[in-house]
Amino acid sequence: SQILALRSFNLSTATQPSSSQRKPLRVPNFIGGTFVDSQSSTAIDVINPATQEVVSQVPLTTNKEFKAAVSAAKEAFPSWRNTPVTTRQRIMFKLQELIRRDIDKLAMNITTEQGKTLKDAHGDVFRGLEVVEHACGMATLQMGEYVPNVSNGIDTYSVREPLGVCAGICPFNFPAMIPLWMFPLAVTCGNTFVLKPSEKDPGASIMLAELAMEAGLPNGVLNIVHGTNDIVNAICDDENIRAISFVGSNVAGMHIYARASAKGKRVQSNMGAKNHAIVLPDANMDAALNALVAAGFGAAGQRCMALSTVVFVGDSQQWENKLVERAKALKVNAGTVPDADLGPVISKQAKERIHRLIQSGVESGARLLLDGRNIVVPGYEQGNFIGPTILSGVTADMECYKEEIFGPVLLCMEADSFEEAIDIVNRNKYGNGAAIFTTSGAAARKFQTEIEAGQVGINVPIPVPLPFFSFTGSKASFAGDLNFYGKAGVNFFTQIKTITQQWKDLPAGSGVSLAMPTSQ
Ligand code: NAD
Repeated sequence: SQILALRSFNLSTATQPSSSQRKPLRVPNFIGGTFVDSQSSTAIDVINPATQEVVSQVPLTTNKEFKAAVSAAKEAFPSWRNTPVTTRQRIMFKLQELIRRDIDKLAMNITTEQGKTLKDAHGDVFRGLEVVEHACGMATLQMGEYVPNVSNGIDTYSVREPLGVCAGICPFNFPAMIPLWMFPLAVTCGNTFVLKPSEKDPGASIMLAELAMEAGLPNGVLNIVHGTNDIVNAICDDENIRAISFVGSNVAGMHIYARASAKGKRVQSNMGAKNHAIVLPDANMDAALNALVAAGFGAAGQRCMALSTVVFVGDSQQWENKLVERAKALKVNAGTVPDADLGPVISKQAKERIHRLIQSGVESGARLLLDGRNIVVPGYEQGNFIGPTILSGVTADMECYKEEIFGPVLLCMEADSFEEAIDIVNRNKYGNGAAIFTTSGAAARKFQTEIEAGQVGINVPIPVPLPFFSFTGSKASFAGDLNFYGKAGVNFFTQIKTITQQWKDLPAGSGVSLAMPTSQ
């Protein structure tokens, strides 16, 4: 069957690199429960960032195919919304079991297409799996409210109903986690879904769709279409789509937010970041430095919650040299090499952009304490590798500071006081995450209160909340008002309906009153 054919494709990427002689597999769309090859004559190569081999080709889905996916989702909605929530939950229970079963295959696909280390790719799947686990409790999460006897014989209650067809548009950096932030909650709430994976690494989404089918998700409840700007614009404009979840850059996110909300859609848009760590001189030096290295260079800095800027306060500046020593010790290699600490960045263009931003920092007066630009990884000479890079003496007017670098580059700034450090962080336009390293409870409390970031870490470098909370980026890192997952995620994917009912025997001849009803 087609599904089995796909599975063998995934297995082949898992065991051997694709050969240049073999025609690369075209990534199928997934429409109405069937994996279908797009009729589009245009496709983009999905490239292994460690080797430059073409893993597969992703089609630019035609408008007709896009409409078919939306129609499939629309047709599936009436019976899916009436499927008992317990049944929907059981499909999620099964899906979480299947994701665990196939986690190695998913991780290998992520490493092949995205480049991150296998261990990190497991984390990518696992953090998404936790959202599936959370969706297993949807009946409780979706409960409504009830006030009996708001007036004589009248009760009011509210229920959370699904919206209809929802859509998700994904970035390249978490090929499994971010699709799993989106569709499991959406469909368990009773919606149907159209997913547009990143054109750079669509494989994990296809594997997850296979697993969702195996778990018993009915045809048409989840659909996948591939492409870039045109398909995204079609999603924004389609009158049958009620809500869009977006994760990615500010340029795309603000465009989608504006275009889709102008069409009356609900949008949640998680975007770029510049996450700061403030290091106070009283911090546990060893733990703080390890955290900075892990959060600055893990996933080659391609995490929206990566710590990309450190503000050393007072004497903690003297730790910069130790930071450099630890960063130097990291092993840069293909993600499949067992002891690799960081893999390549996603593309040649990303590598060039990161090089340019490093150079701009140097030219505007920052000190290059560690330069990862000339790294060569034996056996993977073509890979998009950049070694850990540290710039010191960075100031807020530098381009390398103002732009999100999204690579293994850590910027160091210095502040004379804690207040000055907080001020630096708050003046930055982004507000995804911020962390403090200190042994002072009072300083931590002041930081928590005064810092303008949506996700705060106290001696925790990457404070990405688990799914019973929400992912609460703020300022330029988020547009919308209902965040991803947690209670806010359920609210995003549901509409409240409030019902007022009267069941009482009205005395005969009680008459007609045209005055505004008031409770009594
Ligand atoms: P991207 O914006 O280039 O792409 C994201 C999606 O938008 C893709 O599916 C792409 O096809 C589409 N797209 C891109 N440009 C578009 C345009 N002009 N019009 C319409 N659609 C467009 O982002 P990326 O490079 O894949 O991901 C990296 C970015 O995502 C970083 O900025 C990172 O901080 C951000 N990110 C944020 C979070 C978060 O939760 N805040 C999480 C992960 C990644």
